[in-house]
Amino acid sequence: MSQPDCVFCKIVSGLIPSARVYENENVLAFLDIGPIAKGHLLVIPKQHFTSVDSCDPKVLASVAMVLPEIAKALKDAVNVKDYNILCNNGKLAGQVVEHLHFHIIPRTLGDEIRWNWPSAKYPSGEIEKIAARISAKLDSCH
Ligand code: AMP
Repeated sequence: MSQPDCVFCKIVSGLIPSARVYENENVLAFLDIGPIAKGHLLVIPKQHFTSVDSCDPKVLASVAMVLPEIAKALKDAVNVKDYNILCNNGKLAGQVVEHLHFHIIPRTLGDEIRWNWPSAKYPSGEIEKIAARISAKLDSCH
């Protein structure tokens, strides 16, 4: 399934060019055109899904299956040991392209990449309440 006005669907079909590094039946990986580090990759399912929670788990599994191999190749190719894998889901999370994708971002000593990650503390009793609310939505935790 593909969306006619989705830029990544157009990349999958070849309507828009991309610097492809990996492809199989279900998955495509290519260089991000606005890299925050040299080698910054995007790994996508070929089928159009907008987010992790709306994705067919089998399709998501096929992406996960190739992440280790792609991450290892990227590390060797750009000579880094460390990297982030990042997946923005929804506008408030910073998602601009509404086709599920995983960024793989090589990290180097002294790079200027910083995540705005203000850590908070739960008031007493709150962590148990939140955990219970989430697990109540998950069949496998009952
Ligand atoms: P996100 O903010 O997670 O939706 O990230 C979307 C990413 O897609 C950005 O890092 C863009 O630089 C990248 N991007 C957008 N258009 C293209 C394209 N035609 N080829 C490669 N990367 C793209």
